[in-house]
Amino acid sequence: MERAQSFPSRRRLLKGAALAALPYALLPGAKATAQPAAVDYPGAEWIPATGSNYTASDRPYSYELDYVIIHVTQASYVTTLSIFQNPQKKVSAHYLVRSADGHVTQCVRERDVAWHAGNWDYNTRSIGIEHEGWIDRPAYFTDALYEESARLTAAVCDRYGIPKDRAHILGHYEVPGTDHTDPGPNWDWTRYIRLVNFA
Ligand SMILES: [Zn+2]
Repeated sequence: MERAQSFPSRRRLLKGAALAALPYALLPGAKATAQPAAVDYPGAEWIPATGSNYTASDRPYSYELDYVIIHVTQASYVTTLSIFQNPQKKVSAHYLVRSADGHVTQCVRERDVAWHAGNWDYNTRSIGIEHEGWIDRPAYFTDALYEESARLTAAVCDRYGIPKDRAHILGHYEVPGTDHTDPGPNWDWTRYIRLVNFA
C-alpha cells in the first residue's frame, strides 16, 4: 500500500522538475550546464560503471523494486571499481562499500538494472550492494562497513517501500539459480538487520 501512495507523488515531482527545466533546454545553443544529481544516496561518491555492464531503465516505473541483495566482492575496493569499468566483465552493482571506513560509492543509478544477481528477474527487482572483502576473511567486515551499509540499505528500503527483513534483504546465495555463496557464513545477518531497522 505504501508503494501505491508514494510513487505517484514522487512521479509528479519528477515530472514537475522536468517541465520546469524545459524552457532552458529549448533555448537555441543552450548548453546542458545543469547536471542532474549523480547519486541517489546523499554522501555517496559517484564512480560509474561502464554502460556496457548494466541495463538502462526507468525503475521503479519499469520494474518494481522488491529486494536489496548483499554481496561480498572477493576483490579489493579498487579492483572492484576497475571490474565495473571493464566492458568485458559484464558485471556491476549499484553500490560498493569500502571495508576500512564504510565509504559508499555508487556505480549504477538505482533506476538502472545492475548486473549482480546472476538472475535477470532478480536484477530487475533489486538494488545490489557489494562489500569489499572476502567471505573467508571476516576482518574485512568492519563495524564501519556494517554501519554504513545498513544506513544505505535502510535508505533504499525507505525509498521504495521494501520491508527491512530477511525476506527482502537477501544474500546473493539466496538468489534462485546462483552458484555464488556470498556474503558467506561470516556475515552477521542478525546484527545487519538490526542495524538496518535502527539506522
Ligand atoms: Zn555476489
